Amino acid sequence: MDDSLSPTKQEDDYVTSITEEHDTICWGCGLRLIISPYAPIFKCGWCGAITNHNARQYDNKYFWLRRLRDRSFVIVLLLFMLFIIGSGVWGIYPVVFSIGYFWGVFHMTITAILSIATLSTYVLAAFRSPGAPPRIPWGSYPTMGRGALMDYTFCNVCSKPKSPNTHHCRSCGMCVLDMDHHCPFIGNCVGAGNHRSFILFLMSAVTSTFYVSIMSSYILYQIWPPLRHIPTVTLSWSTIVAVLKESALPFLISVESLPIRGFVLIYLFFASVSIEIGLAVLLWQQLCFIYEGKTYLSHLNSTSNGNDEVDEKDCQNIVRFFGCSNTATRYLLSFWNIKKIHKK
Ligand SMILES: [Zn+2]
Ligand SMILES: [Zn+2]
Ligand SMILES: [Zn+2]
Repeated sequence: MDDSLSPTKQEDDYVTSITEEHDTICWGCGLRLIISPYAPIFKCGWCGAITNHNARQYDNKYFWLRRLRDRSFVIVLLLFMLFIIGSGVWGIYPVVFSIGYFWGVFHMTITAILSIATLSTYVLAAFRSPGAPPRIPWGSYPTMGRGALMDYTFCNVCSKPKSPNTHHCRSCGMCVLDMDHHCPFIGNCVGAGNHRSFILFLMSAVTSTFYVSIMSSYILYQIWPPLRHIPTVTLSWSTIVAVLKESALPFLISVESLPIRGFVLIYLFFASVSIEIGLAVLLWQQLCFIYEGKTYLSHLNSTSNGNDEVDEKDCQNIVRFFGCSNTATRYLLSFWNIKKIHKK
């Protein structure tokens, strides 16, 4: 290394109390550092880059297999969504149109809007790049100023510096900026590039499944065959048996004359309610993290490090996330903040 590029006098100031010394080169600024041989992890005193000799080595052997598995699952889920939409239309429309033409057209419009919103946001979240970190020059002393790579680590797979909020995903085979998590349902990472599409997908999916559960239960109620009454004659030795005979049995017997449409609607109802509950919990958790100004991974890091400090809990974080900057939201937020100050 050129002596003019390594101001050893300056470096010595940044290295403290070392008994046995050995020198190494900082990957960030290229300066020679003198460190203890027992220090597998050290931080450069000049640029702030962290060198970790014990960094996890990623096994890139089955990358294409993992990618294929993720993509196939996305195709299966897309087909499942189309199946839900198709069977919903088949099960609900004829009955709605028989109630009234206006209702038919009204529900047709709602179905079209919800389907397009859910499918398009899903495709965006699944196929958009989750956000590659910006290219920065690194490795040379004059270009890297003091603290220019503060807390950056080096990704051995991408051969690139990664900021504290950037993580390498083995399944996506890339470093992801502001990585939240790798979601198997979209076969993609959720990061800076597609986080908004992911949240919008969750919102439209929760709304759609809520709509399907309401509509399927309403139509089931409309088409359910009348309950056949079974008279209880002599067997009245127990009230439970009587109640069963009076209510549950006719209900079960009536299922026998339920059209196939009814069974499809029962399936739709249970499927939509269970998906709705799962997605609503996930959406709520995601919105809480956005409100607190962190991602799922940064939340995990802060709790494992024991410092559960919150950046700043603020509705502005949510507004910034969705990129709304119109005066109406700003007015509402200033009103909200005034209320918060008054409560304090
Ligand atoms: Zn350095
Ligand atoms: Zn990487
Ligand atoms: Zn990933």
